[in-house]
Amino acid sequence: MFSPAIDELLAALRCLPGVGPKTAQRMAMHLLQRDTTGAARLVQALQQALDTVTHCPLCRNLTESQPCRICQDSQRDGGLLCIVESPMDVLAVEQSGSYRGRYFVLMGHLSPMDGIGPEDLGIPALLARVAAGGLHEVILATNPTVEGEATAHYLADRLRAQGVTVTRPAQGMPSGGELEFLDGHTLLQAFRSRRQVE
Ligand code: ZN
Repeated sequence: MFSPAIDELLAALRCLPGVGPKTAQRMAMHLLQRDTTGAARLVQALQQALDTVTHCPLCRNLTESQPCRICQDSQRDGGLLCIVESPMDVLAVEQSGSYRGRYFVLMGHLSPMDGIGPEDLGIPALLARVAAGGLHEVILATNPTVEGEATAHYLADRLRAQGVTVTRPAQGMPSGGELEFLDGHTLLQAFRSRRQVE
């Protein structure tokens, strides 16, 4: 419609969630017309992140260091493991200030319809880590959505079989909501009032 270069930029911008044709056009015009400095910075930051950010070998979170800072932090309670669906959930829990253990990031939830099974979420590695011992509690902080609950249920069955205490944040987690959108206070309460999964 414009030129091959602009058409390619529009198509590339549409890889972002929630960006349709109109938004892509506004973004492209902004970057090319009003803020070329910002555009150059964006290119550089994106390339640098692509070159340096990988998954932590221990918790699967996105990181530039191997292992990540949280896994390396000796001030944290190594016996406490919080399982979440995404790096955004780690950020939300960290910002609530309610938690000083470590994490395991599934990078999704079980979804048989989409062909996402335990292997895709690193669950065999998670179970091996629990089997290696040293954990006194695993907190299942997957989202209180249908998929998140199903994933928590699946994990609870397998983790309890290994003899570790399994809990789930309770009060204040609105059903159907997502962890990353909860305010810090609500998340703090949810973690404090976590209940053991029987
Ligand atoms: Zn890590």
